[in-house]
Amino acid sequence: MPHQSAALQLGGAGGRVAFLLAFCALALAAIALQFAKVRALYGGDASDERRVNCPSCGARTAVDEEVCEYCGEPLDGGAE
Ligand SMILES: [Zn+2]
Repeated sequence: MPHQSAALQLGGAGGRVAFLLAFCALALAAIALQFAKVRALYGGDASDERRVNCPSCGARTAVDEEVCEYCGEPLDGGAE
């Protein structure tokens, strides 16, 4: 039947596309994992309002701290 042969051809092409999509999904997952690791290393999400960037060294540090926990420079009250 014509329908079956057409379906087989589409299946062959679809298999390649599916393989490429799976490869891309794996690559994106690996990249997302790396971003998650980097975020964890640098003190969490950038939108976390309880942490500010040190005006001196740029490190993420808690707004509760009077001085930067990395370089010891005083924080200027979270003013931006
Ligand atoms: Zn600092």
